[in-house]
Amino acid sequence: MNNLLRNVTKMVLLKRKCQCPECGAVLSMQESFDENNEINVCEKCGQKLANRQFAYQGERFPGVTWFCDDCGTILNTQEGFRDIYPFYRCDKCGYLNRITEDEAFDSIEEKREHRKKIGG
Ligand SMILES: [Zn+2]
Ligand SMILES: [Zn+2]
Repeated sequence: MNNLLRNVTKMVLLKRKCQCPECGAVLSMQESFDENNEINVCEKCGQKLANRQFAYQGERFPGVTWFCDDCGTILNTQEGFRDIYPFYRCDKCGYLNRITEDEAFDSIEEKREHRKKIGG
């Protein structure tokens, strides 16, 4: 119902090890992982991960990956995305996403809890 809710995970890819923040799998060990890909998908849990090399790393929320609430696209890799804006319109679907601190979560677990609380 509350589709303003942000899907955010901290980027573990910031670390050299390239671990999935969702399940902890080592991505560099996975066959489909390519450090030249803009986005990699964890083979184990399906979590989408923006490549640090290409993705915008954030100013207000360094290291946070932002996903579009509507289509699930990673916003960090879109041209023109900056987390200093209160809102950002997704290039792909045109959805207006809220970029605020209370929408940023340390983990997917935390995000799920938050969703439960607000009934979304
Ligand atoms: Zn994973
Ligand atoms: Zn979108």
